[in-house]
Amino acid sequence: MRLLTPGSKLQRTWSDFIDALYAPVGQDFNALYWLYRLSSALLDTILPCRDDLRRIRINGFACRLRPLIPCAGITLTLLCVISYFTTFRDTAVIKKGKSETLHTSIVVWLAFNVLSHYLYCIYKSPGIVISPKSEMTANINASVAKRNDAVIKIGGCCFIQSRVNINNEKKRCNFYEHYCTTNVKIDESTQNAVHHPMPNDTFCHKCEINRNARSHHCRVCKVCVLEYDHHCPWINGCIGYNNYRNFVLLIFYIMLGCWYGACLLALDFYAMMREYFQDNGFKIMGPQYGTGILDLPPPWTLLKDYRNTGKIDDDVILRAVFPFLLFVSICMFVFLLDHLLSIAKGFTTLEKKTRPDRNDVVNPFDLGIRKNFERVFGKSLINIIIPFPTHKKW
Ligand SMILES: [Zn+2]
Ligand SMILES: [Zn+2]
Repeated sequence: MRLLTPGSKLQRTWSDFIDALYAPVGQDFNALYWLYRLSSALLDTILPCRDDLRRIRINGFACRLRPLIPCAGITLTLLCVISYFTTFRDTAVIKKGKSETLHTSIVVWLAFNVLSHYLYCIYKSPGIVISPKSEMTANINASVAKRNDAVIKIGGCCFIQSRVNINNEKKRCNFYEHYCTTNVKIDESTQNAVHHPMPNDTFCHKCEINRNARSHHCRVCKVCVLEYDHHCPWINGCIGYNNYRNFVLLIFYIMLGCWYGACLLALDFYAMMREYFQDNGFKIMGPQYGTGILDLPPPWTLLKDYRNTGKIDDDVILRAVFPFLLFVSICMFVFLLDHLLSIAKGFTTLEKKTRPDRNDVVNPFDLGIRKNFERVFGKSLINIIIPFPTHKKW
């Protein structure tokens, strides 16, 4: 770990603390003050926060928490997979006489897809329009870095930020410019209609640049993003032209995984709850822990039981996992449907929200349903089933 490297904030705070601790008797030593200074220096080191965001106090707090949200998403996915291998493989597959190889392969394939698309979304650039401002910070970083290519650090999960290479972003913007000039033409018959989104470049007052058509400024990331869809807290970054495909596939695979798990566990859950209600009667607050219909034990009880017995009760895992899978699968189904409808019409989520409420709105980027889908997902089905980065576009 490079926590205490010479000159780092933590190292400076630590040496100030040592000086204060061994100061001559009679000088004030405020333990609470030092606890605050040391912990905030430690937080700054392990969860880096951009200086411009830190100045605003509430944002400063939020920007430290932001990198933890994708971490929570990945942990939840891993917990579901672990619960399959520790519990449900035995109770819902082997004991029921189902094929263990088949079900384990499906679980591994689904989990692999979810995790890869999750990581792609976090660490792949959404497609950034580079401004002189961001180029300047990148050059400062490049002089420090060993490799000499200019990189901007943005978003990311925990303390590993994603690195965006400036040259690649510029190439992508040029490609996009070329794509717009060759493919997007305004029909003479629709010349008088309202065009949404507009096919021409716009000016961003915050970045002070002329940006490509369909780009939008993200207030959280503080950059302009090509075909900006939305800023996703679960990804801790923007969803745009370059990672939208991974985002939709991520939602699709989470939905598929949750439906699969819910179907596998539905009968067991039903049988368990029926028996439970027969024994205890129907109560809104369960008789054992009083935490609601499911009567789940609080985390500390769970931890105590685990330390005493070395395992967690199978029924408790089933009662926690099945409703979670069902809830997530329904949410993901709604999100997926919304995104598929947007793709079919050739809009991004933002463009759909800001569409003028008129009948004569024409989308110059709409290529027809089939081509709109091909533009997002590519033509090959194999790239959708296996998450390898073969579908590359600039
Ligand atoms: Zn901007
Ligand atoms: Zn953003």
